[in-house]
Amino acid sequence: MKDVPLDMSTKEYNLGQIAAAYDMARAVNAVQMRRVDAIRALVQGHNIDESNSAIFIDAMRALFDGRVYKMALGLEAVAYCVDRITESDGIDGRRRALAAYLANIEYYERNEERRTGRSRIRREHRALYRRLIEVGGRGSADLDGVVDVDSEVSETSGTRQNAPWSRDELILALDLYMRHRAAPPAKDAPEIQELSDVLNNLGAVLGQRTSGTYRNENGVYMKLMNFRRLDPQYTADGKKGLSRGNKDEAFVWSEFAGNPVRLAEVAQFIRANVTKHANDSDLAGPEEPSIEEAEEGRVATRVHRYRERDRRLVEKVKSQALKKHGRLFCVACNFDFSKQYGDAGAGIIDVHHTKPVHTMQPGEKTKVSDLVLLCSNCHRVVHSRRKWLTVEELRSALRE
Ligand SMILES: [Zn+2]
Ligand SMILES: [Zn+2]
Repeated sequence: MKDVPLDMSTKEYNLGQIAAAYDMARAVNAVQMRRVDAIRALVQGHNIDESNSAIFIDAMRALFDGRVYKMALGLEAVAYCVDRITESDGIDGRRRALAAYLANIEYYERNEERRTGRSRIRREHRALYRRLIEVGGRGSADLDGVVDVDSEVSETSGTRQNAPWSRDELILALDLYMRHRAAPPAKDAPEIQELSDVLNNLGAVLGQRTSGTYRNENGVYMKLMNFRRLDPQYTADGKKGLSRGNKDEAFVWSEFAGNPVRLAEVAQFIRANVTKHANDSDLAGPEEPSIEEAEEGRVATRVHRYRERDRRLVEKVKSQALKKHGRLFCVACNFDFSKQYGDAGAGIIDVHHTKPVHTMQPGEKTKVSDLVLLCSNCHRVVHSRRKWLTVEELRSALRE
């Protein structure tokens, strides 16, 4: 989003034009219309000049999503948007919009102070903000500047909530946090924007991106602040960080914060696979109930599963085993399906991938030597905990 000079404002527009801009911004946000077409429609059909059309669209979309915007939306336009947003998205939507609005006011005040050396309060906007906050009713009182748009508590019904952060997403966020531990990037920093983009691609690849607000800059920034509450370096001198995190945060922190090399490795693995699978559905699909998600997250889990189900490799491993031993059996418990079930069990055995998937380079082929044969019981046991068992661990568990 570009910075726009301060004197550019949409205040001279009438309600009809504002309403038209609102509908266009909604259509763009819902990916029903391209931004460029929306701007053209406002220019041609509603007599709004091009740059103001762009301001309308971009600023209104920021209000929908609870993102900071750095352009001037007139008082009437803000009031109109907040009302319409409340109608369609309920109190949560209103809170997001007001958080974005307050951040916008503060941005202008800071910016003006920097330019002129005098602090100037945007009185009219402050007054409007106060009025909108007051009529917001329940839930507005605890609005302190910004709202965690991904907070899992929905006090009101009927509004869309984004899915809780998955472990993959938390790993990527923690990776960014650890790289800037002393001073996390600001909300509008390029690192935040970049991670927001990656998370949106990840959400699309896994089929869990559900709304226009999904992992936006505000949400990403808030997540870094959530990690602070777990960071002894931060809390040592009595500071608290942002409360209200999800429970996997603590897990991801305890698992990865002390091991930056592994963290970076896993983060890199997730990023590489998001890119690699951006245009296929290999990582999408329903969850497998008997498979516990790996510590490294869903992407690693799914990569593991599709690699060990690769038909060509499975056949290769089985035929090698047959050649060598004359039969197929579980390397952990020795179970032999054809011995137990006769012809009905012939050829049945699972293939399990033994190498930690995230250590594989993108494009690196699965080697036959990384695959072992397991019976379905043993295979299920291996994957039944978050920390998947090694074959050795499985064997010793069997003996007990
Ligand atoms: Zn497996
Ligand atoms: Zn077995």
